Amino acid sequence: MKTPSKEGKKRYRPDGFYKGPFMDDQSFWEACTCAPECPDPCQGQCGCQACETAYEDTLYYEGMNLTKF
Ligand SMILES: [Zn+2]
Ligand SMILES: [Zn+2]
Repeated sequence: MKTPSKEGKKRYRPDGFYKGPFMDDQSFWEACTCAPECPDPCQGQCGCQACETAYEDTLYYEGMNLTKF
């Protein structure tokens, strides 16, 4: 597993990991490796796995809401 950057810890408090729905399973956590100059919200274009996953999850849940209504 990667180590979160300092900026990552600011974005994903307190430890810099995006956990999604898997709060209890550390093997699914992604470390945020964003730099301070990263856009916020970041969509993972910097190579940050945490933000990419978070972004994909957002799209996924938005998509579910769209189909629901
Ligand atoms: Zn990030
Ligand atoms: Zn980033």
